Amino acid sequence: MSEEKEKNPPKKPSYYITTPIYYVNAAPHLGHAYTSVMADVQSRLRKAMGFDVLFLTGIDEHGEKVAQAAAEHDMSPQAWCDSLVPAFKDLLGLLNIENDDFIRTTEPRHTKAVQTLWEDLLAKDYLYKDTYDGWYCVPEETYFTETQVHQSDEKKGTEGQHLCPDCGRPLERVEEESWFFKLSAFQEPLLELYEKNPHFIEPEIRRNEVVSFVKGGLKDLSVSRTSFDWGIPLPFDDKHVTYVWFDALINYLTAAGFAEDAEKFSYRWPANAQLIGKDILRFHCVIWPAMLMAAGIEVSDEVFVHGFLLVKDEKTGDETKMSKSRGNAITPQSVVDLLGVDGFRYFFMSDVKPGADGSISWSRMAQVYNTDLANSWGNLVSRTLNMSAKYFDGKVPGPLAGWPDAENPLKEIVTGLVDRFNHAAFEFGYDEALAEVFKLIHAANHYIEDMEPWTLAKSEATLPKLQMVILNLLEAIRIAAHLLMPFMPETSAEALRRFGQLEERGCGATSGDASVSRSMSDPGATLDEICVWGNLKLEQPVEKGDALFPRLDPKDLEA
Ligand SMILES: [Zn+2]
Repeated sequence: MSEEKEKNPPKKPSYYITTPIYYVNAAPHLGHAYTSVMADVQSRLRKAMGFDVLFLTGIDEHGEKVAQAAAEHDMSPQAWCDSLVPAFKDLLGLLNIENDDFIRTTEPRHTKAVQTLWEDLLAKDYLYKDTYDGWYCVPEETYFTETQVHQSDEKKGTEGQHLCPDCGRPLERVEEESWFFKLSAFQEPLLELYEKNPHFIEPEIRRNEVVSFVKGGLKDLSVSRTSFDWGIPLPFDDKHVTYVWFDALINYLTAAGFAEDAEKFSYRWPANAQLIGKDILRFHCVIWPAMLMAAGIEVSDEVFVHGFLLVKDEKTGDETKMSKSRGNAITPQSVVDLLGVDGFRYFFMSDVKPGADGSISWSRMAQVYNTDLANSWGNLVSRTLNMSAKYFDGKVPGPLAGWPDAENPLKEIVTGLVDRFNHAAFEFGYDEALAEVFKLIHAANHYIEDMEPWTLAKSEATLPKLQMVILNLLEAIRIAAHLLMPFMPETSAEALRRFGQLEERGCGATSGDASVSRSMSDPGATLDEICVWGNLKLEQPVEKGDALFPRLDPKDLEA
């Protein structure tokens, strides 16, 4: 593979990021929205930093649960899946998600990838036929052994009820012929992987969880079903359809060109980052790497595991997992209605510690929005643009001796800022990355108070100083807006547009304006090049416009 790469070196490095493919048993919820935004921010950032990004999301359409749901609705499974696709695509549109591919597991390219892997694993002797006799959780499409169910029932005092150890719902007894994957052969190789590659599972708490699970021993996994037919048939035994998880995990290979486009596959694989929720940890950190190792395919660089979004009761402070049955579900649309798309994206990326459970409440959302976006960032933009327009004839000031070289507190913060920002954001430390940008925003607000531009404007003698102050502020805003762009694409672009700085935006954007500096007019200019202090375009018209983030009245939330 590396030899092929050298023969045809790609112009840009590849960055391949995935979300889980979402299960089409119900409409998309806040959890889907959260993972998708998290991936979208990384994808936009990597694009701005010059990577050739493949951002994959999609839906998981096979399995017993889907077949059952379709039957309940008097539809064929395919028609049932087709009917749910728009809701998932609408969610991506609602949240301004720019995925590069949307995979459906019923597509021919995926059938081909799954069947190719089946043949491969059979040839490598990692499959055998036997009878599966045990329990199955249909809603979660997960197998449980007699012992697991017994122990769980005993612990919860539900002896004899055979409830799912994970979700508590009644289990189905399954006894059928099945193909098994020799997962037990991978205990040592997996432990070695976690040891040698400590970043394969992030954060560390999840890695430790997986390590101790695997140390407890692995059983071979039933990977085919015969009691229903809604799945991908085994190429060598067509009474059997692929176990839905086995099918679903392979989607990451399919979209990278596996079994179809060797050149693409060698460029895209291994995936750089796979985002998942902690509820599907074992599938992605145990079964998935074992499947890849068995097939002789490199494992992904990293699986990043996020927590659950817990809803905080405003009165009692209790936090509970969001669920329809508890009546505490918050829909993505309702949050967007309150905060706007960028407010939604900002809240979840800044206030939920990546990898940990998040505590969600309407009052917290309003607080974060008002403090950070309406008061700090939005207010800085509107004050500064107003002053620039008022004191400099509706424009960004013109050239000034000593600018941009003169030292000032904002320029000092910008030094090394992109590196600090990327260092955190590349590892999904979005809260820290945003905190770096907000240091600049807070400093700029303080700078206005310290410099009192309105006083400097009163005397001819202090006009050059006024010009310096406004240039520094506009430059700080320009750089902050570019760094906020992956998180808040619309409002950041709008802020830049209002003082004529938008066309210099990152990778892929083109500028016909010959007067801009090389790095800015170069369509390949990357975020770090754009964020160099002094790249501000002078004498651009300034437009004041409405508030980017209108203040929310917390009283409106009580209804
Ligand atoms: Zn379950």
